[in-house]
Amino acid sequence: MIETTSSGVLVAPAALRAAVRAIIECGGSGEREAALVAEQLVEANLTGHDSHGVGMVPRYVEALAEGGLRVNQQLRVVTDAGALLMLDGNCGYGQVMAFEAMDLGIERATAHGVAVVGLANSHHVGRIGHWAEQCAAAGLVSIHFVNVISRPVVAPFGGRDARFVTNPFCVGIPMPNGEPFLLDFATSRIAMGKVRVAFNKGEQVKPDTLLDARGEPTCDPAALFADPGGAILAFGEHKGYGMAVACEILGGALAGGLTLHDRPSHSAIINNMLTFIVDPRRLGTADRLAQEAMAFADWVRASPPMAGVDHVRLAGDPEREWRAARAAAIPIDSTTWQQIVDAGEQLGLSSAELLRIAAPRPLAAVAGPPQDSGVPPRAARA
Ligand code: NAD
Repeated sequence: MIETTSSGVLVAPAALRAAVRAIIECGGSGEREAALVAEQLVEANLTGHDSHGVGMVPRYVEALAEGGLRVNQQLRVVTDAGALLMLDGNCGYGQVMAFEAMDLGIERATAHGVAVVGLANSHHVGRIGHWAEQCAAAGLVSIHFVNVISRPVVAPFGGRDARFVTNPFCVGIPMPNGEPFLLDFATSRIAMGKVRVAFNKGEQVKPDTLLDARGEPTCDPAALFADPGGAILAFGEHKGYGMAVACEILGGALAGGLTLHDRPSHSAIINNMLTFIVDPRRLGTADRLAQEAMAFADWVRASPPMAGVDHVRLAGDPEREWRAARAAAIPIDSTTWQQIVDAGEQLGLSSAELLRIAAPRPLAAVAGPPQDSGVPPRAARA
């Protein structure tokens, strides 16, 4: 567990959405596209996942310049067999492609009881929990396997170099109290974006997380940004590694996309996602699910907390705590903020205009979150 300190800015969520929207529109996107991108990136910050928040904007701008990310794309239906959908995202913004893919999946799962949705060839779909929340809001259970076609950054169990990316896995279960169980994680020990956040803040990461370019253990996030680069270890030893492979093959190939077997050097982040959506009402188990899931959640949350833990949580709880803590203002470290301002300028949005829209307040020092406790930092609660 690492306590972090950094300087930067505080931006109100609505102003941050407007600022991101303005940058994305300058990149050529229509209003709806820019709004969906801004909405999801700011939601990631609001839920405590800065790794998948507005700090991604500079990377998107780089991918736009290279042509690997395409604006204003339409989702293409490749296969439509009722409950089975194969969709292609045409390298368009994942925030649009995944939103529309889930919308279609929700419609089919509600009609047929179940839907299997393959979304191939979309640009970065960001925080996967966002898509599970979309399904849960419609009363549906969802399971998501995702792979990433980008520069490899994760080593296979027992290996010394990076062979795949951080392949996230996610399960969403709606709960009767409106607070879904939301398990959503990278299958690497930490998400690549969290290595970037640590690098930008000049911090070290926990031991047993990274390998340097020679395959030796290191705590220095710079190892991942060197050339040749190092690797992140898979989570959960051989078991987490196996899950990463399942995400690669199911999220990649079964969804109609590719798996990684070379070292692409482009800036685009292509995601493929295989989603299973189930309607418990059609299965006849909705009442049982609601009662048992809530009873189980209450049971585990009642476990006496260990020293240093305030209370036992269920997946999804930390994100809700973060959301409450950051409702008024989102802290952004100074390196990330400068990169966002530079990205705007690259697309022709002056820094003066961006600062007018975002109205950032200086943040002298913020106590960062213990990185894996899910507990919001004190300063961000203020
Ligand atoms: P993480 O390590 O922060 O784990 C998050 C999960 O653990 C959540 O489900 C959270 O509710 C749960 N959790 C956290 N603390 C808890 C506690 N104390 N008790 C119970 N549950 C707790 O997540 P991560 O691996 O850093 O992933 C961050 C985000 O990155 C995710 O949203 C993921 O979807 C996203 N991601 C996206 C891509 C992509 O290519 N699009 C790739 C990798 C990761």
